[in-house]
Amino acid sequence: MELDKMDENDWKYHGEGNKSLVVSHLQHCQVLRLLKFPSEDSAHTRQTAEQAFRHILNIVDYSKYVMKPLLGEKYVHSGEVVKLPLDFVRQLSLKVQQERPELRCDKVMDTFSGCGLCLPNLTQLPLHHLRDHRPPICVEIKPKCGFLPFSRHITKECKRKVCRFCMHQHYKLANGKWKRLSRYCPLDLFSGSKQRMYVALKNLLEEPQNNLKIFKGGELIFSCKDDAKQQPDLNDLVQHLRPYFPHSNGLYNGHQPGKAVLNEFIQVICSALLSGGDSNRSGESRKVHLSESRPLCEASPFPRDLLRNGNQGLPKDSVLAKILQVQMLDNLDIEGIYPLYKRVEQYLEEFPKERNRLQIDGPYNESFMDTVKNCPVEDDGSVEYAVGKVHQYRVAMTAKDCSIMITFAPCEEDEEHQLNLEKPRLTYSISILDLDPKPYEGIPHQHKLDTKIVNYYLRSTQAPP
Ligand code: ATP
Ligand code: ZN
Ligand code: MG
Ligand code: MG
Repeated sequence: MELDKMDENDWKYHGEGNKSLVVSHLQHCQVLRLLKFPSEDSAHTRQTAEQAFRHILNIVDYSKYVMKPLLGEKYVHSGEVVKLPLDFVRQLSLKVQQERPELRCDKVMDTFSGCGLCLPNLTQLPLHHLRDHRPPICVEIKPKCGFLPFSRHITKECKRKVCRFCMHQHYKLANGKWKRLSRYCPLDLFSGSKQRMYVALKNLLEEPQNNLKIFKGGELIFSCKDDAKQQPDLNDLVQHLRPYFPHSNGLYNGHQPGKAVLNEFIQVICSALLSGGDSNRSGESRKVHLSESRPLCEASPFPRDLLRNGNQGLPKDSVLAKILQVQMLDNLDIEGIYPLYKRVEQYLEEFPKERNRLQIDGPYNESFMDTVKNCPVEDDGSVEYAVGKVHQYRVAMTAKDCSIMITFAPCEEDEEHQLNLEKPRLTYSISILDLDPKPYEGIPHQHKLDTKIVNYYLRSTQAPP
């Protein structure tokens, strides 16, 4: 990429989240990730170019020095900070505006700093030759928190039985964020049981919300509709997927066309999620498993009587095991973290200069990572302990909010790297993205939100008759 010769016509709108907008290059396997701001931010509260640069550098450092060592080299692409010509960014912002979904337009793209993040386009396979006419399929899953909190600081018993995602669904429905409840439960996806994972993925397909997107050749072909009332079209998806699963086309012909295709598609995603990360490794690395399987969430639609004992849980180096392990750094729960946050706050009030030494706002380097790794197990009443636990909590929060990208494409029989899945010959690659640091200042909000979600759940599900 030649930064002085940037042309907005080489880029197109790719997607966006709550914090950033992404454009992809028309020819190369690259994307640019640009930050967004609330549109009401005045010029006066807006970040300076210098602050924006620092902010993006923090994002890259956090990914490189914190998340990558924890999640594994092979899954994380940290990207690099780029300084873009302001004229290019302004033209780009105008160009993409009409493509943006309405529900995201409460924020505007940063066109002031010229800072952005350059990343590989993970919806494409860089080595996928054009010998095959079928472009890569990419499945993006935002799995959310895969375990039930176990901290002794928890005050509401229901938090030990119903997972956060399932409780949050009720709250979001009440607040108009979504029109229908999702039947997806993260505990099923993280269970390692093929049956439960199958159900979890099927429920994601039926109600993707912002937890599932599917791309074909880098183009979004399946996601939640902008109009929240409308359901995504599974038949449409089946038509896209048919060429990838040709031998299943003859199966179950007649009453349930497409069911066999979706079935195979879900199997492929399951196998990839349980594998060692890419098709260069042999199939499912079954040898070592991460602790026991996830218990069933009481709100999951998975039938309890189908739950088998002795399930082995997740293969140790699978992408799900890696993410879960980092999520579980949150072992005190927000209810245990909030008092420690207040301890840190009190200390900083007295010694404001200590903020830098304690690396509250970064830099996110090896020394930050040491604090995360070497935090004492027992609370000795020190500010160091409190800071260590707060850092760990924030790292866990990032892992609860990341996305998994599984990109696969057909490959020829004689090709070297093949997926060990029996039927369709597929080559694939898995990555984890959206690994931004979660702000320290967000902890009081998290504490309030937790109370609201739990109280609302209790009121709405256990209301007296
Ligand atoms: P969130 O609201 O989930 O926190 P965010 O604002 O932090 O999202 P991202 O999730 O990083 O932003 O990016 C938004 C979307 O852009 C992603 O969901 C994904 O579809 C797409 N995207 C981001 N990075 C890449 C990449 N490297 N390759 C391909 N697509 C990407
Ligand atoms: Zn659940
Ligand atoms: Mg995201
Ligand atoms: Mg994010």
